[in-house]
Amino acid sequence: MQKIAVFGGTFNPIHNGHMHLAKRFAELIGAQRVLLIPTYQPPHKHASNLAPGRDRLAMCRLACEGNIFEVSDIELKRRGRSYTADTLRELKKRNPDSELYLITGEDMFLTLKHWYEAETIFRLAVLCAAPRGGDGLRSLLDYAEILEREGAKTFIRNIEYLPISSTMIRNAVQDGKSISELVPPKVADYIAENKLYLEQENE
Ligand code: NAP
Repeated sequence: MQKIAVFGGTFNPIHNGHMHLAKRFAELIGAQRVLLIPTYQPPHKHASNLAPGRDRLAMCRLACEGNIFEVSDIELKRRGRSYTADTLRELKKRNPDSELYLITGEDMFLTLKHWYEAETIFRLAVLCAAPRGGDGLRSLLDYAEILEREGAKTFIRNIEYLPISSTMIRNAVQDGKSISELVPPKVADYIAENKLYLEQENE
């Protein structure tokens, strides 16, 4: 059975931490495909200084390397709130014979019980997460046990955490600092050429 790793994010912008997580999980799962899926409207937060969907999509495409990474515009095309349950349902319809693995970081994983139609997510994908280090692994394993009691399948691994965030990158751009260590080179060029993230953040 083909294994597809599904990695959704606001990706504002996508960075080396995201790519490292996705690559390591793809290896550990043995995934044949990795789908990066930028959200249209993140369902769980007000995203400050959100770059247009077409830019976040373009940066995801530029971040892809090798031949297993793909970018899906499924959520940008659907518009509205980007509920993961809707996305997984559509992906399962398009790939009925594939096994879906949903990749998340620590914070998102620890809220999964409260996501829209959580039981659909539990039914359609194996839930993958890695900690930010320290005590994170214990919290993830404890929460995974709770989710498994509700019918979920989980895959928790202690992948090295690269301390990078999208906020850090947007702040660096505003401060005129280099982001070359934080994002893939083509993404850094795209941000500069398109003058992204120059405005002041208003939280
Ligand atoms: P994001 O900020 O772009 O981050 C995407 C994921 O990458 C997060 O899980 C985040 O971990 C992880 N990450 C960020 N930096 C990392 C680093 N340096 N190393 C390792 N991992 C790192 O996107 P987001 O706004 O959190 O959204 C995540 C996805 O969850 C989206 O697809 C969104 O639609 C979905 N979501 C859906 C629902 C719902 O359907 N109701 C609710 C909430 C979220 P953390 O989790 O630790 O931040």
